[in-house]
Amino acid sequence: MVYDVVIVGAGAAGFGCALTLASANDKFDWAKDKTYLMLDNDGSDLKVGKYCNVAGVEPGINGVDLLVNMKKQLENYPACQLKSDTVTKIEKNAENFTVTTQNETFEAKIVVLATGLHKFEIDCEGLEVKDNNFVPKPNLIYLDNNNNIISENLYVAGLASGVPTMFSCASGDGAKVACNIFEKWSGKIAVVHDVKS
Ligand SMILES: Cc1cc2nc3c(=O)[nH]c(=O)nc-3n(C[C@H](O)[C@H](O)[C@H](O)COP(=O)(O)OP(=O)(O)OC[C@H]3O[C@@H](n4cnc5c(N)ncnc54)[C@H](O)[C@@H]3O)c2cc1C
Repeated sequence: MVYDVVIVGAGAAGFGCALTLASANDKFDWAKDKTYLMLDNDGSDLKVGKYCNVAGVEPGINGVDLLVNMKKQLENYPACQLKSDTVTKIEKNAENFTVTTQNETFEAKIVVLATGLHKFEIDCEGLEVKDNNFVPKPNLIYLDNNNNIISENLYVAGLASGVPTMFSCASGDGAKVACNIFEKWSGKIAVVHDVKS
């Protein structure tokens, strides 16, 4: 099968993107049958933090528990699968991307890189890894982009795009990329708002 979107990285940005994308499926005809896959190798910064200043999130929550909560939240949306694996190569073909992991190969129409700021070891042509000068620590990276776009149908979200190293910035950047993808699909500005029935 060809996934509509493959998201690499299941941290704040990856979940922000995946939850926003998948929440559109039962709300819009243009999103009805879209399929999503998240691939992650369990190295999120969330695993080492404790979060007291994330708006709307229980103060003092351990990042590992925050990850568990986001995984549970994603289970509400069967259109999105989450797999544990390391992506090693991304190739652009005539129509789609081939995403190679240590164990499998997937096809995708759109790829979102939400891989954080520590390193980028995926073999992917046409992508520039730069020193991340937007953060107060040395030896970190971001991926050169123009408003989250690296090249056609290849996006970057979260710390890998150069946003400040705060949970809400990364998560919001993932949601922003999802909305950019909605615009591509629907041909107009689109967001997903749940309202009380
Ligand atoms: C110690 C610490 C404390 C913090 N405290 C706070 C705080 O109090 N408040 C706050 O707002 N923020 C805090 N942060 C920052 C916050 O955790 C980050 O901003 C946020 O996690 C970044 O989200 P991200 O999705 O961009 O990256 P990450 O959450 O790091 O996720 C990137 C994901 O991509 C995966 N990945 C990378 N390469 C591959 C690959 N090739 N294949 C598959 N998967 C891949 C990684 O395994 C990882 O799961 C803290 C960070 C740290 C380190």
